[in-house]
Amino acid sequence: MTQPLWGIDLGGTKIEGAIVPSLDNPQPILRTRIDTEGHKGYEHIIHQIDKLVQTMKQQSGLQPARLGLGTPGVLDPILQTMKNCNSTALNGQPLKKDLEEKLGIPCVLANDANCFALAETHWGVVKEKAPGAQVVFGIIMGTGVGGGLVVNGHVWNGKHGIGGEWGHNFLDESGGPCYCGKTGCVETVLSGPGLQRYYKSITGSMLSLKDILAHALQGNDQAAIKTIDRLNHFFGKAVSVITNMLDPDVIVVGGGVGNIDSIYTAGVESLHKFIFNNRVDVPILKPSLGDSAGVFGAAALVA
Ligand SMILES: [Zn+2]
Repeated sequence: MTQPLWGIDLGGTKIEGAIVPSLDNPQPILRTRIDTEGHKGYEHIIHQIDKLVQTMKQQSGLQPARLGLGTPGVLDPILQTMKNCNSTALNGQPLKKDLEEKLGIPCVLANDANCFALAETHWGVVKEKAPGAQVVFGIIMGTGVGGGLVVNGHVWNGKHGIGGEWGHNFLDESGGPCYCGKTGCVETVLSGPGLQRYYKSITGSMLSLKDILAHALQGNDQAAIKTIDRLNHFFGKAVSVITNMLDPDVIVVGGGVGNIDSIYTAGVESLHKFIFNNRVDVPILKPSLGDSAGVFGAAALVA
């Protein structure tokens, strides 16, 4: 009998845990969550993860052999410390080592976009609509922009642990400064806050993404239409880099901005202009697992 898969998704506000029977059977044995309380610092985050794992043991009557952990940033493969986390308490910390000491089991870490791509590959839309895909690229376009790469069913971390980190590729100067220290990253242009900033730069008013979209669809707010047209244009331009470099079998787009329908029509038309090919065959799909992808992907890390 195969060992059940234990996964933890470490988020900014919640830490979620799930126990999944196997890759063939994703129906969770248990799913539960706890507050991260990240403002109390790194040691407290470790304490909360341990507390959640102990609760999962008690409630399931099972013991984990290994633990998969989805994190906001990545573990540097050389330094073995965390980096690029927007939950900044984690940066510079040996999270894997500390957790393995605390829990007494091996832990496998991956960033949340990689977990998203992995979950959608094994249990989500890729399995439904592009079965047999060897190279899957997952995009999360929300508050930030992240990317994750899955090759032959496994996360591709890369030499620096930044495999798939497309969100901080240069896209356009107009995006302005990024938190990462560079300017014009994909994230500054395609994230929700990036779209809101652009709308504000034309109109002087800050609107929610939902309102900008609604105004664009109503057709009477030229600035909103321009904001969404710009999104579609740059979505195609940014995704062309992925297709020209990796030529994946399928691309899955999650996050709040990923829900905007026009990127699948006008955005793909834009991709057609920038791709080094005379047609676009790669399916660009919406995910099917919703918020569950993070914790399920974390569990799939230990399969
Ligand atoms: Zn950046």
